[in-house]
Amino acid sequence: MNKPIYQFTGNPFVDAGIWAICGWVEKENPEDLDKNDLENVVKDIVPLYLTKGWSKSLYSIFPNNPITNPSVKNKEDRLNQFLSSLIEEIEPIHESGTCTSCGRRDTKSIRTKTEIPMIGSGSLINFFPNGQPGGDYCPACTFAVQFSPLVMYSCFKLLLLHSNSKKVMRYWTRRALRDVERQKLERDYSGCFNEGYGSYRNPKPTNALFHIIQDIILKNDEKWLDEGPSINLYHFTNYNPGPNLDLYYVPTPVFRFLAYIRQHEKYSSWKQVIKKGYVYVNWDKVKEEKDYKNKRNQVYLNLLNGRSITKFFINSKKRVAIGDWELLTHYLKEVRKMDEKRLETLKRVGDELANYIKESQKIKRLNQLENAKSYATFRNLLRIIEKDRVRSGSESVLFSLDEYVNDLFPDGPLGWKETQDLLLFRIYEALHDWLIKEELVEELTTEEAAMEV
Ligand SMILES: [Zn+2]
Repeated sequence: MNKPIYQFTGNPFVDAGIWAICGWVEKENPEDLDKNDLENVVKDIVPLYLTKGWSKSLYSIFPNNPITNPSVKNKEDRLNQFLSSLIEEIEPIHESGTCTSCGRRDTKSIRTKTEIPMIGSGSLINFFPNGQPGGDYCPACTFAVQFSPLVMYSCFKLLLLHSNSKKVMRYWTRRALRDVERQKLERDYSGCFNEGYGSYRNPKPTNALFHIIQDIILKNDEKWLDEGPSINLYHFTNYNPGPNLDLYYVPTPVFRFLAYIRQHEKYSSWKQVIKKGYVYVNWDKVKEEKDYKNKRNQVYLNLLNGRSITKFFINSKKRVAIGDWELLTHYLKEVRKMDEKRLETLKRVGDELANYIKESQKIKRLNQLENAKSYATFRNLLRIIEKDRVRSGSESVLFSLDEYVNDLFPDGPLGWKETQDLLLFRIYEALHDWLIKEELVEELTTEEAAMEV
């Protein structure tokens, strides 16, 4: 058998290009690609790149290339010539080589940022060894990179997705290429896949990133829970005056949690949690998705940065738990890595507190638990409640010292807020009917119903 031309390299730009080529010629694996496929891709994609929409996208990916340079007249010939000469030079994979991407073939020419995004070059000669004016990329890797824009996602800057999971990459490639096909069919050439995410006011790609992940989970029947992929997203621009790159890492537990929740019977509650994450949105004024889709979402930001989202599971104004304990504990176990014993203690203490409030009719204690603004106040309050309980003849203690230290406040003053939220969640859940009966909360209005997000 002939040696293959392509294997994945670990370089996100090169791999994205290999996926795009595979997707375009409908081959499952890079090892199946031959030079015929490469010629076909050139034939199909060069006319696309020459359109106004695509040349605008390419401007911030490959600055100064013949397509985006207005002084170049015969753009089509130049691009065809460049790509054909690369195909001619492409050799099968060897044992080793000087290419910094595949390491399996030698470099024929030094490449600059006009051909490979994010590598500096030109006046930035200190960037490369021995002060050479560009990077070492073999013809095959250079060729692949030229097609990476087909699977990039436009959101203020550009997003490039890279995952160890072939399922994720294959799905994402199909999704992006479907948009390219749509553009060709409708002759509506708008450039890289763009669904209106990202704005000057909120240039961070967090919302787009979760949209992409949820799209992958939603529209595919794969058993994502078994997959556990790790996903990196590169948010970049290679725009001449200010190239820039930020890396976002989607934690595997977060991906698994999102995949799980999609099938959960309380999925609509999860959508309410996400809705609460949009902290600066006036929902009365929202008419359509675009009115909020680029606003900061604290739930997404916290998930990405390893911070708790527990407080978004409660509506403190209406004293309502969003979802149920089972849904919340799945998040706590999968993402926050809380153990069973801790969760059981929190649930039991929450139930005991609910009982105490109901039986003693001391709604002021609930107010105090809600309004506690410091670790010291909150601890003190639990102590007062315990004294109260003993006085009224309670036989069981609210919690043991061991539970206090290990389960309620394992991080001391650092994590007490999360504990407060969890106890309130459980109290609201347990007292739901009672609070309504006693007219201590307003009934949920229809506006509280989950909104498509
Ligand atoms: Zn290479």
